[in-house]
Amino acid sequence: MNKQECIIIKDLLPNYIKNLTSVEVNEFIEKHISECHSCKEFLGELEREYQKQTLKDNILEQEEIDCLKKYRKKMRTLLLTLVSFIGGLLVIVFTVLGIKYKYNKYIITSVYDKLNEISNIENFKIGITDKHINFENNTEDTFSENIYYIDGKYREQHNEINTNREILNNYEYSYYGEVDSNKRTEVYEETKTIINSTTNYNYTSKEGILKVFDSSTPLSARENPLLVLSMNIRDERYEGKEYYVIKFQNSKNSYRELWIDKNSKLIERNINDIVGEFYSEKKIEYTPNIVKEDDVQVSAKGYTVKNKQAEVEKEIAEFMNNGL
Ligand SMILES: [Zn+2]
Repeated sequence: MNKQECIIIKDLLPNYIKNLTSVEVNEFIEKHISECHSCKEFLGELEREYQKQTLKDNILEQEEIDCLKKYRKKMRTLLLTLVSFIGGLLVIVFTVLGIKYKYNKYIITSVYDKLNEISNIENFKIGITDKHINFENNTEDTFSENIYYIDGKYREQHNEINTNREILNNYEYSYYGEVDSNKRTEVYEETKTIINSTTNYNYTSKEGILKVFDSSTPLSARENPLLVLSMNIRDERYEGKEYYVIKFQNSKNSYRELWIDKNSKLIERNINDIVGEFYSEKKIEYTPNIVKEDDVQVSAKGYTVKNKQAEVEKEIAEFMNNGL
């Protein structure tokens, strides 16, 4: 065999087994192979080598595909887990919010219902202690008030105790009258004076007296689900009684708290605190059916009696009427 031809054939064989050679070249190669043992052996070797390589490549490719499939499966599982987790979390969040809403709504509604209930009672006493501390002026004032109410007649008994003030130290007076009336009798203990005061508006009403319970209560919020939900209510024990405490954080240094007696469902404490500047605490005590007729009758004897048109109050009333 021509050595020169063998070299050319061996050169062509790698392309031949990959089917990259032309029909004419194939014929030339096949003719040579049928006659040349050396080149035939070389072709056999090449083919075995090529098959091995192809097999390896196929395995690698399959491995790559498997890996990709595994990755996709993993991602799908991960995504599914994540979705279930978020779903579960949402269910928990909504359940917790639902419970909180029901709880808050129950408390607010109880307070509201209780107020409606006591508005029908014709005999009650309300004791109020209102303490104000002003840290800037270093003053402390305590206003005490006992309101006696029986069948439309009332007595508002006031007592003011001031510290760090020169004028008033212990100031005591009472207002007597009937609700929805423009007359009242004012009795001042220090000066032993009785003033029969008349004005052109009604001094007070039964609703006005009971306002001490709801003037600061966000009772109107009970129909607003978001406001009800946002209320921050905690349990508290104070002076042997159980309370719901609603806290309103007005700002970082300022908050208000309403303390609701769990038994009576009435607001018994109302705290306003501007930390380091001002603190006020109002305590309210309600007792039904203990007032007697004598409690609302003027009993002072030997006092100087004066009559008065309450000018300042008249101006306020005019202002209010104009405002409406
Ligand atoms: Zn050859």
